[in-house]
Amino acid sequence: MFTMKAFAVFLFLVTVSAHPLVIDVSSREPSPSPVPAPAAAPRQVPGSQAPLNSAQLNSTTGLHTLQDLYQGNQNFRQGARLQAAKVLDEAPSFMFLGCVDNRLSPSTIFNAPAGSIITHNNIANQYSSKDPSADAAVAYAIESLHVQHIIVLGHYGCKGVETAIAKSDKSSRLVRNWVKPISDLYSSSRRQEIVVLRDARKPRRGQDQGVKTAPPASDPGFRALVEENVKRGVKELRKHSILTKAYARGVRTDKNEIVDVFVHGFVYDEATGDVHDLNVSFGPPGKPIPNVPFQALKAAKNFHRDASSGSITSGKVWDFGSGK
Ligand SMILES: [Zn+2]
Repeated sequence: MFTMKAFAVFLFLVTVSAHPLVIDVSSREPSPSPVPAPAAAPRQVPGSQAPLNSAQLNSTTGLHTLQDLYQGNQNFRQGARLQAAKVLDEAPSFMFLGCVDNRLSPSTIFNAPAGSIITHNNIANQYSSKDPSADAAVAYAIESLHVQHIIVLGHYGCKGVETAIAKSDKSSRLVRNWVKPISDLYSSSRRQEIVVLRDARKPRRGQDQGVKTAPPASDPGFRALVEENVKRGVKELRKHSILTKAYARGVRTDKNEIVDVFVHGFVYDEATGDVHDLNVSFGPPGKPIPNVPFQALKAAKNFHRDASSGSITSGKVWDFGSGK
């Protein structure tokens, strides 16, 4: 007999899965707390760029226990896995060099189907040809996976960049060494917002040390340093990565098709969900850079100038020789 209880269970299963026919009822276990759907949408109001209010922020909960994690995998197996299986037959077009502490993955930020993009993360999305892990990941993405775009993705409020500014004694030497290139950038940058932040944190007369606390994520100098750090990564990729060789000999797929690889610098704003372009894209010599539809940050232009016009202009190759 089809009881009300059975009907309620059926309704629940239809709700949690787009593919109710493949649900394995025997493997379902109760979860102690609400479980977010896999590949959840960004926590933002569609079509709005306004920061989220507290009620919106409290409308979802994260994963906290191993049981939550297990249940999430169960939901994934029953739903998004089927979508991912289709995507895995396709070559990924995008590789992201991202940050460990950016908890919203590119898949979430760009609402990408599971498995459609590849990522390499470290603290504060840094690239250096002296980092064998990052260098091998880029080489692999180009040579074996034939990605078309490599994106250095920074995020405002980055704890790694914050560590480089605050130089807190709470951070281990290992972490401070890792972010030292960003500390050096902070110390030497002539970008106005960073200079203002730096001056405000200097030791005052009669004090041994300056401000040690972290600046707020909204601080213009902090935001500027996040942007400059992304640009630094793109610059390193341009000058010192395997891309130079790839451009010289050309990248071809197994079917001997030419792949043009372009590199971009983006920054993600957790407060609004917006992704901004830093207008530092480059690609194979002589190849026009595809139009980047994300809004370019005008605030970044006072330091990295286009070689020909002295200002940032969409679609032009960034002049890596200018500015610092
Ligand atoms: Zn970060």
